[in-house]
Amino acid sequence: MSKKKFKTLCVHEGEIKDIQFKGSTSPLFMSTSYAFDDVDIKQYPRYFNTPNQRALVKKISSLEYAETGLIFSSGMAAISTSLLSNLNSGDHLIVQGDLYGGTRNFIKNEFPKYNIEYSFTKDVKNESFQKEIKKNTKGIFIETPSNPLLKIVDLKKIGLIAKSNNLWSMIDNTFASPVNQNPILFGIDIVIHSATKYLGGHSDICAGVVLSKKNKIDKIFQSAKNLGGNLSDYTVWLLERSIKTLYLRVRAQNNNAIKLAKFLKSHSCIDKVYYPGLKDHPDYELAKGQMKGFGGMLTFDLNKKIKVKKFLNSLMIIKPSMSLAGVESTVLSPKLTSHALLTDIERKEQGINDQTIRLSSGIESFGDLKNDLSQAIKKSL
Ligand SMILES: *Cc1c(COP(=O)(O)O)cnc(C)c1O
Repeated sequence: MSKKKFKTLCVHEGEIKDIQFKGSTSPLFMSTSYAFDDVDIKQYPRYFNTPNQRALVKKISSLEYAETGLIFSSGMAAISTSLLSNLNSGDHLIVQGDLYGGTRNFIKNEFPKYNIEYSFTKDVKNESFQKEIKKNTKGIFIETPSNPLLKIVDLKKIGLIAKSNNLWSMIDNTFASPVNQNPILFGIDIVIHSATKYLGGHSDICAGVVLSKKNKIDKIFQSAKNLGGNLSDYTVWLLERSIKTLYLRVRAQNNNAIKLAKFLKSHSCIDKVYYPGLKDHPDYELAKGQMKGFGGMLTFDLNKKIKVKKFLNSLMIIKPSMSLAGVESTVLSPKLTSHALLTDIERKEQGINDQTIRLSSGIESFGDLKNDLSQAIKKSL
């Protein structure tokens, strides 16, 4: 990576010079057709190599210490393509038990069709990954901090387990964002983001990214051009624009999250707060060692005397919403939304109860967010 600082890379890396008009932002090239006689590679959106795609890959790669990458039409397109390109019929994959619901559904519903085997780990401990290794295991897929209880997986240990067993390692780094965590520096091979979340950051873009060494990306590309999950250049351009403020947004979100975590922890109507930046989080030291910031996501258990639906409906600033990571603060009840398809027992195994609330901090004033939570708790007693 170049010596430029993260903030500068967010704004400038990869930008396309406007030679024609000398504008200060990257021009947008919407062409799906390019001359074939004066370029060494055929340029075409589904070959993931249009001018705007290449510019954006350069920017995001620089933020994750990756050699290169591919931009997809959604986080799931990035995840599904990366997994299918690296697994053959008869192979086995180890998957973190605590996992984004879409990834879990993809593995459970699609892998059997290709005769790909998988094991979900019992918990996020290193031994639980090690234990699942079989003769036909090819890779390990992790997600840290996890959703919704923000459990922390040891990046360095997982990287070592993978390397010593000749496996590849892949991480969904969406929750941390490149501002807070760079898994490649800890020995993880392939980094994936749902750019719909922090990279986009305004709840108006759906996109995904895969980043790695060039040989690993070349391999994923061989499947990607067949599966066809590229992102429209217009949205590529919007995503480039969004990332210019990534550092500022995520730092403000981290800041609000830690203050909200401390406030909620001291509140008599909150039974438990899950946030890796709190010193009593079981993996606080691990998080401190591998994260640059503790992230904008936090989760808490409302006391039983609070009615969950009433609480959600009483919030005036913080919006009940399925997604996360936008500049606006949002909340959801995993039981009623993201984890509704799991059985009570499955939810319990993951540590989710009926009073659990996940909060995605935005960039609003902490005081306003705190007051909003206070008044909603009071109203729903
Ligand atoms: C949202 C999300 C995804 C899926 O991304 P889409 O852009 O919705 O396809 C994957 N992983 C995590 C952790 C997410 O939050």
